[in-house]
Order: sequence, then C-alpha cells, then structure tokens
Amino acid sequence: MLIMNATLITWEPGANRVLNDHAILIENDRIKEIGTTNELTSRYSQTQTMDARGQYVMPGSICAHTHFYGAYARGMAIPGAAPKDFPEILQRLWWPLDRSLDAESIQYSVLPCLVDAVKHGTTTLFDHHASPNAIEGSLDIIAEAVEQAGLRAVLCYEVTDRDGESRMKAGINENVRFIKKMKSPLLAGTFGLHASLTLSDSSLDLCRQAAPDDVGFHIHTAEHEADEYDSLNKSQTRVIDRLQKHDILGPRTITAHGVHFDAREMEILADMDTWLSHQPRSNMNNGVGVAQIESMLRAGIKVCLGNDGFSNAMWEEWKAAYLLPKVHYRDPRRMGGYDVTQMAIYNNAALANVFFTDAPIGQFVPGAYADLIFVDYHPNTPLTAGNLPWHIIFGFQQSMITTTIVGGKVLMRDRELLTLDEAEISAKAREIAPKVWDRYQSEAAKIL
Ligand SMILES: [Zn+2]
Repeated sequence: MLIMNATLITWEPGANRVLNDHAILIENDRIKEIGTTNELTSRYSQTQTMDARGQYVMPGSICAHTHFYGAYARGMAIPGAAPKDFPEILQRLWWPLDRSLDAESIQYSVLPCLVDAVKHGTTTLFDHHASPNAIEGSLDIIAEAVEQAGLRAVLCYEVTDRDGESRMKAGINENVRFIKKMKSPLLAGTFGLHASLTLSDSSLDLCRQAAPDDVGFHIHTAEHEADEYDSLNKSQTRVIDRLQKHDILGPRTITAHGVHFDAREMEILADMDTWLSHQPRSNMNNGVGVAQIESMLRAGIKVCLGNDGFSNAMWEEWKAAYLLPKVHYRDPRRMGGYDVTQMAIYNNAALANVFFTDAPIGQFVPGAYADLIFVDYHPNTPLTAGNLPWHIIFGFQQSMITTTIVGGKVLMRDRELLTLDEAEISAKAREIAPKVWDRYQSEAAKIL
C-alpha cells in the first residue's frame, strides 16, 4: 500500500523531520520506503494507494502503563464517604472492583478501551491486569481482544499477597504461562507485580525465581508515601532499594509512578537502566503528589508516559505532563515541551522496542513497523520539527485523528472503525457493567 499526499512527521531520534507532500510505501507489516509523492507514485504505479489529502501522518502513540479493567470505574459510585487518600482509593475502589471481574467482564473492559485506543491513535499499550477471582487465562482473554482490534500490546498479571497465598501463586503462574506462550508481532508478555506494599519478601523471591531470565517486571512504585513507609517497616529500606535487593530491577523492568522517590532511589533506577512510567492525570486524580520528572530525566532515568487507565488519548496525557509541574511549582518555566517529547515519543518507542525487537517502532524509517495515524490538523502558525511539541500540546485534538494503521493493517479509515464494532461493544459493556457494579457493591460493603 502506498500512502500519498501526506505531511510526514518522522520522529526519528535526534533528527525529527516534517516532510510536505510525501509518501510511504508499506509492504506487509513494515515501512519499505519513504519519498516524495511524485517519486513514489511514479515508481510504484501499480500499488494500491491511500490518499492522505495533505493530512499529517505520524507514528501512532504508545502508552507505557494502563489498566483496561479500569473501564468499569467510569460513573461508578463508591459507597460511604469519599475516600480521603490513595490507600483508601485502593481499598475501597480498585480492590473490590478487580475482585468483581469474571471472564466476560474482563473481555468487555478491554474492548471499549481498544475502541478508544484505535479512535485516538494509541497503537501500542502496556496493560497491567488484576482479576483475583478469574486469574487463570485472564491474559488470553485480553490477548484475544487485542488481536481482534489489531493493536500491539504488552500484557501482565499483577501478582499480590492481598488475596491470599493461592491467588498470589496463581498470579505467578498466569504470568509465566503467558510469557512462555506469547510470541507474536502484536503481543508480548512481561511479569506483573502489584506494588511493594502488597508483596512480602518471600513473594518477591518467588516471583524472581519463577520469572524467566530474559523477562523484566512491571510494578507500581512509590505512587503514595504509604508504599515507602511500608517498605521501610518491612525491610528498613525504601521501595527501589528493596526491589533492587530482590533483583526485580533492570533494563526490561517498568516501574510506574515514582511520585515519592528520594534522590538515592532515582540514582539506583538510573544505574539499573530501569524504566519509569509517568501518569500525571492519575496522579492528579488520586491527589498523590507530583513526580520529580525533570530531575529523573536529568539523572538519566528512562522516563516514559502512560495513562493508568485514563482515556487512551495520549495527547491529553502530554498536556497534563506539561501543565502539572507549572502549577505545582508556580513556575511556567518548568517542564519544557522537549522533555514531554522525550518521554512520550522517544522513551516510549525505545520501551516498545524492548518487547518487539524485530523492527523499530514509533519512527518512520525504512524497515520500521507500519504503525501510523493520520491527523487532520490545519495549523494557523508555521509548524516545524522544532516547534512541533507546542503544536501537539496547544493545537492537536484527539478528534483530529482520522485513520489508524498498525502493522500495515488499517484499523480505522476516515473515522470508520474496521476491526471493532463500537456500538455493539458499548451496548454489551453497558449490559455487563451493572452486574459488575452489583458485585463491587457487595465486595465494597465487606470493607466499610
Ligand atoms: Zn497503575
């Protein structure tokens, strides 16, 4: 397929270009060639074409940390007084909710999120899943939905002690089973851990022993200070020191949040070449604080951008990442657009390539995976490779995305979804949600 009449944004590391009137030749799931529309249309006159009509065409967005099961929380009532802090949000919202999931409700939490991802141009997602009453096979249900959508995803199951030893072990088995089974261009597995505060030393060791050698972990870290105090009580060290002691860190491990890291924890993460995913919308919503992202980037930590179950509209996360430090420090100079780009574009792409190693992701170069989106944006000021981050933050809207392609397959064309039926999926999800909410209310009542 030849995409022609496009304004390409290539996002090559260190050499991003904006190229007018260009074309991309896609062969199977890869980008084969990039050139001007004139050149490629005359050389490939027999190839099927897709006219971008001057739209911006760029690599799809990547989300480094999400929870599909969070879909059921939308509009759901939490019984009793509003939770006063993040530990109460976990105990009264998320844990009773994940205990309410069964196979069918897992499937219909995932599909609406994937509709959202295709519509909003998020083409690779890192999910962190928990369903303590439906553990075995849960990752297969998610994988099947991801394959149906045609997106790219890295999946894992959150191992935790909070539902007893047998479920903790079932979580380990689910990760190992899925990691060993899953070798596909669109899907990969990693080893999920909930958080230091719900894992004993012996459980962390069991996870380390069970995880295959070339596999990393995906874990929440220091999202709230409770995680740090719990670690200090359990082990007399902070969260990252504790995880290092249990051999959990490394170049394939993703730590999410890090809002309450101290300087030494940042140093260890940088030394261990470990990823950190930042979710500012979630941090604001939970009132947990502001992660020291600029310091982490300066320390050499590979900071990525995720959404923690908020909409799969990653430019919204860009905006939050850009704005939050400004109000927090009362200083408009904080968090430049290039720092946001470093996280959302370059680090997210490098993280995706840890799991999908056959071809570059997130940049337009010959040989890269053909994961791309069309954006119908008409800038009222010049748009250049240099000022692009500010166009994305102040000009781009997710509704401008008209076409989404992953691995050369068209998932949405001119805003028409081709792999998922949004009306049918939402109707079915609305039918299932009240049953999940009923189970949630009985689970939540046990805690009050
Ligand atoms: Zn999370």
